Amino acid sequence: MTMSSASPENVYLDNNATTRCDPDVVAAMLPFFTEQFGNASSMHAFGAEVGNAIGTARRALADLLGAEFDHEIVYTGGGTEADSTAILSALETQTGRNEIVTSAVEHPAVLTLVAHLEKTGRAKVHVIPVDAKGRLDMDAYRKALSERTAIVSIMWANNETGTIFPVEKLAEMAHGVGALFHTDAVQAVGKIPMDLKSTQIDMLSLSGHKLHGPKGIGALYVRKGVRLRPLIRGGHQERGRRAGTENAPAIIGLGKAAALAAAHMAEEQTRVKALRDRLEKGLLQRISHSFVTGDVDNRLPNTCNIAFEYIEGEAILLLMNREGIAASSGSACTSGSLEPSHVLRAMNVPYTAAHGAIRFSFSRENGDADVDRVIEAMPPIIERLRDMSPFWREREVRTAAFNPTYA
Ligand SMILES: *Cc1c(COP(=O)(O)O)cnc(C)c1O
Repeated sequence: MTMSSASPENVYLDNNATTRCDPDVVAAMLPFFTEQFGNASSMHAFGAEVGNAIGTARRALADLLGAEFDHEIVYTGGGTEADSTAILSALETQTGRNEIVTSAVEHPAVLTLVAHLEKTGRAKVHVIPVDAKGRLDMDAYRKALSERTAIVSIMWANNETGTIFPVEKLAEMAHGVGALFHTDAVQAVGKIPMDLKSTQIDMLSLSGHKLHGPKGIGALYVRKGVRLRPLIRGGHQERGRRAGTENAPAIIGLGKAAALAAAHMAEEQTRVKALRDRLEKGLLQRISHSFVTGDVDNRLPNTCNIAFEYIEGEAILLLMNREGIAASSGSACTSGSLEPSHVLRAMNVPYTAAHGAIRFSFSRENGDADVDRVIEAMPPIIERLRDMSPFWREREVRTAAFNPTYA
């Protein structure tokens, strides 16, 4: 499907897929393409200026995370690279341990990697299930941990439902058996407050483009004292932990994005959350046989995932796009295939509902007019698709086994 580009009349509610780079971020980056183009490692003024700016950016990011030391931040080429670095490093540094514990609802950046490690015989993987609300099965988690566990990798917040995981507790439990604890916090950073120095989290992944920063830049937080084997070897950049000339403009953009996220954090919890809640309530009241997936009481303030039963998410998105409204079915990575999202399947959401799940994800750039537009546009779209759906006509028979909480 072809999407028209952003215009004032369009409504963008797909911020968990990517965010608009903040104009202040772009402004902060620009000088580092032209005037301040030096290589941060060079022994002259051109390099030193850039090196200093990178230092300031690193501090801003460390502050957003509540990290104790600036050098706990290692820049990467994005969230995916940070996840790979953490997991592959642990398999090398944790001698005598070859097991990985993760959850069934991780991002493909983790799940595809661990499946490959298992298939090639490099690791044994325990995939911990979740319940109908997407919450981790704590008993299964406890049982999977052992003196063979090299690393636990469990996300801070789920990208499709927004469900938040008790990562501080999970990290303590991992340390109880001597395992490292990594969290993919790509969706959580900038949306909920963090204070890493007061937790036992060893490593954390984040990505610039999910918090109004540039694409292709991310970072891995590595707690001081935790050994790291680099994924990419070469020069001595990032204290030998990630080789390759620093992407100075992107690093500086990410620093600016971090500072802006910290300044807007309270707004995320109040105004943005209120927009999300009003949309959710408005849709559930107007559209029958629809329900919210995920842990409603414990999720990101910007995310809601609504299952519209008996219709196809792809068809819904197509009609929404005609109205200039952008959202997502499950995750961008799963759309295009006929299988519903692995996250909703892990939660045992019936196929008839999982197929019609739409994720609406807000940012500080959304306003009341966006919510009004979507509340008005959705009911006729859903009605039109249900009129054409054979599953809708047979619906009574199919819901018997599942009891979602309707509005
Ligand atoms: C987007 C995302 C990633 C991947 O980050 P990139 O910077 O796009 O590589 C990883 N994990 C989660 C939870 C994400 O939402």
